[in-house]
Amino acid sequence: DVTFTEAFRDPAIARGLVRDIQRAADRPMRLMEVCGTHTMAIFRHGIRDLLPPAITLLSGPGCPVCVTDTLDINGFIALSQREEVIVATFGDLLRVPGSFTSLRREAAEGADVRVVYSAMDAVTLARQHPDRTVVFLGVGFETTTPTVAAAILTARDLGLTNFCVYSAHKVVPPALEALMQAPDTRIDGFLLPGHVSVIIGTEAYRPFFERFGLPCVVAGFEPLDILAAIGDLARQIADGRPALTNAYRRAVGDAGNPRARQVMAQVFAPCDTRWRGLGTIPASGLAIRDEFAAFDATRRFKIAVVEMPEPKGCLCGPVLTGARVPTDCALFGKRCTPTDPVGPCMVSSEGSCAAFYRFQR
Ligand code: SF4
Repeated sequence: DVTFTEAFRDPAIARGLVRDIQRAADRPMRLMEVCGTHTMAIFRHGIRDLLPPAITLLSGPGCPVCVTDTLDINGFIALSQREEVIVATFGDLLRVPGSFTSLRREAAEGADVRVVYSAMDAVTLARQHPDRTVVFLGVGFETTTPTVAAAILTARDLGLTNFCVYSAHKVVPPALEALMQAPDTRIDGFLLPGHVSVIIGTEAYRPFFERFGLPCVVAGFEPLDILAAIGDLARQIADGRPALTNAYRRAVGDAGNPRARQVMAQVFAPCDTRWRGLGTIPASGLAIRDEFAAFDATRRFKIAVVEMPEPKGCLCGPVLTGARVPTDCALFGKRCTPTDPVGPCMVSSEGSCAAFYRFQR
């Protein structure tokens, strides 16, 4: 008996897909994934080692914690320093260094920072602590944003006045455009994110594809999914026939999940936002709509904007655009390790530096 997951890890089929890739890879090809889960899956399954030397895989800005600008990290930390606030956050953010300190260090010094597993957990926390204000730190792409929107709607329906969200949410398609214009970056094809595409659908990438004519394939997360998508990209490049295709049809449709997108659009509106490594990208962020201003931490609290340079020597910016690889960084594995990270790409398990450290030293 073969389980559903095992069916997507079949070694004989994988060997066939690798042979297809070898045949198609007739020139150097630089392929970028823009999804932290792809980054992890590619390393965990040793996919880089299976590929012919002509193919270079680049890890792009797909890790939510890594792309969060230092300005926002400093904002999160400033909120944690307020007496009346409980900060509710996903665990990864705790260790990301801000300009002077981190949430973990603030928590050690008495700040009330709690790790939650969903935005709805933060709503529950607010109900349990009516005398405090719970601020949920909203990072992540279209995969998580609908759940945060749903939490805000729930808080409104419950009449909660002590719950709000700091939205540092981002959307993927505008980042692809920014990557095409990033200096020193050459990308020949994109492995498009599986989870994000479940929500936004394949057609959400059509404007990008029509503008740049670059091979784009939506990919799943099992080894055969990833190899099939790489093979599709390699063939498109070799044949000079770029297309926008979907190699993850069992989960992703052309239109995505309309209900999730509707909830997201009800609560959030597009805004310009800053990405680590890519700078400000028009319409790539999600701001809480005026109608829900009471749930917007950036309007409820005056948060000082602290502009600071990146940590000295950290190459997270160029690593996130694929211009450099983690091992180009002089701090990699020396001053910067997962237990004592200098930059965010070493913090999250989805970060390129953390993945290189774990699997490719
Ligand atoms: Fe930044 Fe550390 Fe990665 Fe260097 S190894 S780019 S310091 S996160």
